[in-house]
Amino acid sequence: MSVSDKYQIEQRYIRIGNSRPGTGLTGPLFIVAHETANNSADADDHFAYFNNSQPSASAHTFIDDGKILEIIPLNEKAYHNLYTNPEDNRLFGADANDAAIGVELCRTGVFREAYDRYVWYHAYLCRRFNLDPSTKIVAHSTLDPRRRTDPESWLVPNGVTFAQFLRDVRAYYNAWDSSTSPPIRVQPPERETGSEVDTTILRRGDSGADVTFLQRKLISLGYPLPRFGADGTFGAETEAAVRQFQQEQRIRVDGIVGPETFGRLNRAKPRRPKPFPGTLYRLKSPYMRGSNIGEIQRKLGVPADSIYGPVTAQAVRNFQRKEGIKVDGIVGPVTWARLFR
Ligand SMILES: [Zn+2]
Repeated sequence: MSVSDKYQIEQRYIRIGNSRPGTGLTGPLFIVAHETANNSADADDHFAYFNNSQPSASAHTFIDDGKILEIIPLNEKAYHNLYTNPEDNRLFGADANDAAIGVELCRTGVFREAYDRYVWYHAYLCRRFNLDPSTKIVAHSTLDPRRRTDPESWLVPNGVTFAQFLRDVRAYYNAWDSSTSPPIRVQPPERETGSEVDTTILRRGDSGADVTFLQRKLISLGYPLPRFGADGTFGAETEAAVRQFQQEQRIRVDGIVGPETFGRLNRAKPRRPKPFPGTLYRLKSPYMRGSNIGEIQRKLGVPADSIYGPVTAQAVRNFQRKEGIKVDGIVGPVTWARLFR
């Protein structure tokens, strides 16, 4: 068996969408090396994320310690570098998205195994597309130095400099047809957790198709957005629904949708309606308080201080009017069922 046969490449392509425009790549003229900056998502998780969530960012290939997975055909474009960055044009005379293959190293599993596949795959691309491994592989951090630190952000904590990575690729490239795999120089793994996330995240203030997709997903899972629906704008109502989802999933509650929350959204089953607790919630003196009122407020998109004051009562009346049910500002079984369906 020769080095060229050391690993299999799996091709499982995501559907056409924001992540995969389905348009042709020029060349490829060069390769952009990335790492995902996500400690918990492997290659399959990234496939699911891009296939389902379709953020307008992507890469061709995801590599973990057991798999080399191409999720976008190598003759099509992927979005793995900002078009506005000038360095790709300066170095290679083209935008990376139009002329480069983007390769992502996943953080999950055994670093040495994932890294060996990552090195091998870069050598494979250089062989296949006749690219010089010393000059045609560029770090994402070189193209986007203000925003990105990858792939060094995962290589260096594991004992590999980018220069060493290029030497390892060169060694594989030179040994491609031989039967002996070259040694890679990896120091014992030293696990560090990074906080930078390379994939798209959605948070309050964002808008567009990704947000609409997120909102439809939330609604379908039983997190209604009664005031604004799937309007494509990530405002207070969407944030409250995301927080509630995160709370119920027992993951970090920050109202921000990154790969982990997207992964949970993709796997979650629709939640059951919350049964009416048997108490009428209404404006009275002193004001009623309690966590159920906080949940009512989150559903209504008003500040959730867990106190049933005039603002909440007014929001309940508005909601009831919109729903076409009796307008009395009191949350009884009917209003509750509409709020928590
Ligand atoms: Zn990157």
